[in-house]
Amino acid sequence: MRLLCLLASALLMGAAEPTKPNFVFVLIDDMGWGDFSCFGNQEAKTPNIDRLAAEGLRFTQFYSAAEVCTPSRAALMTGRYPVRSGMAHNQFRVLRAISTGGLPASEVTLAETLKSAGYATGIIGKWHLGVWANNLPQHHPLDHGFDFHFGLMHSNDMNPTPGNPPKANSLVAQDPAWWNAALYRGRELLEPRTDQTQLTKRYAEEAAKFIGANKDKPFFLYLPHTFPHTPLFASERFKGQSPRGIYGDVLAELDWNVGEVLKALKSNGVADNTLVFFTSDNGPWTLMGTETGGSAGLLKDGKGSTWEGGMRVPGIAWWPGKIKPGVTDNVATMLDLYPTVAKLAGAKAPTDRPMDGTDLSALLLEERAVDRGLFCYYRGERLFAARLGDWKIHFITQGSYGDPKAVTHEQPLLFNLARDPAEALEVSAQYPDVVRRLTEAVAEHRQGVVPVRSQLIDVVTK
Ligand code: MG
Repeated sequence: MRLLCLLASALLMGAAEPTKPNFVFVLIDDMGWGDFSCFGNQEAKTPNIDRLAAEGLRFTQFYSAAEVCTPSRAALMTGRYPVRSGMAHNQFRVLRAISTGGLPASEVTLAETLKSAGYATGIIGKWHLGVWANNLPQHHPLDHGFDFHFGLMHSNDMNPTPGNPPKANSLVAQDPAWWNAALYRGRELLEPRTDQTQLTKRYAEEAAKFIGANKDKPFFLYLPHTFPHTPLFASERFKGQSPRGIYGDVLAELDWNVGEVLKALKSNGVADNTLVFFTSDNGPWTLMGTETGGSAGLLKDGKGSTWEGGMRVPGIAWWPGKIKPGVTDNVATMLDLYPTVAKLAGAKAPTDRPMDGTDLSALLLEERAVDRGLFCYYRGERLFAARLGDWKIHFITQGSYGDPKAVTHEQPLLFNLARDPAEALEVSAQYPDVVRRLTEAVAEHRQGVVPVRSQLIDVVTK
């Protein structure tokens, strides 16, 4: 009898639905590849992020799919190059406070895909895919698959008090009220001029609450931080603590926030069933200098550029007991997270449109190399560069945000990123066959891209 009972319970257990994993995406804003102690920065103190890296898989070649905020977030949410969704523009670059455009309803976000697979979905932080201030509900995160939202609708510098912009370190810049950053909970405006010194702390509290409230069902928590996009603010506890100045203080508080999220996952008993992916939306804002801007480490240029420093970003995948700790040089991109997560969740990614990502689950769970093929570096709606294997070809180059001139190269530039990640040694003359192969691969990619009207040109006109 006892044997029969055991057999019956074993059969029942076998028939039970496998537990769906939770997903937490931590997206830092404008943090560079060289901004962490675990990525080689000697001044940064990021013990929690370092621990995430030590316990997880650290990517040395992970890419954002754009060099600035809006298109990067669109790529993360849709798994598609932003040029396909109208979320890129050569001149305007990002959605502004006066924008009326936003992520089209026809796009199927990762939140929608996971929600249809039974997931609770929350976003805490900066959306930047539609600006709610203009009361356009179709562009709100709650209309794009999220059940819960707390945060800013756009960047923290986009609605300043009229007048001359203050110098980054001036007293005016340090007055949070001057920036008029509006904080929302869902569609409700909580504070039109939120105290930005409290944001990172409040995001941690909201994240812990969301995790606690949803611990008994699968959840997707998207945490796109406001910082270290300038202006920079840290709470009293962290202000003035870092030798690196305010940038280091902000970094330390973001690191603390990551620690709080991990603590919440552990105290709610869901850490072993949660994949945390940590990355940045684009490279550091080098225009801000070393005081208030980040570092791309040995990589060239930063935010706004398609040189490596603009788009190669930190990447860490953490899932205790499932993802073996280590370091990988497998090339992977933000576009790949959509199909990877959909696969792990048993959810269906859209099949009625071109998707640009590659499923990384074999790399994460079985340590098998995944060849994601050609990766294209777009700046706005134009394809500037492409990577295939170790090789990167540049058709057009432009420096970091603030460099007004794009240079078109009749003879494309070629670099071997495995040997020369700093893109210092141009080798097109030595490898004409490689130039030809990459040019052909890019031509084939272009044939499959039908640009749509950019949403970033729609603005309020008064
Ligand atoms: Mg950004």
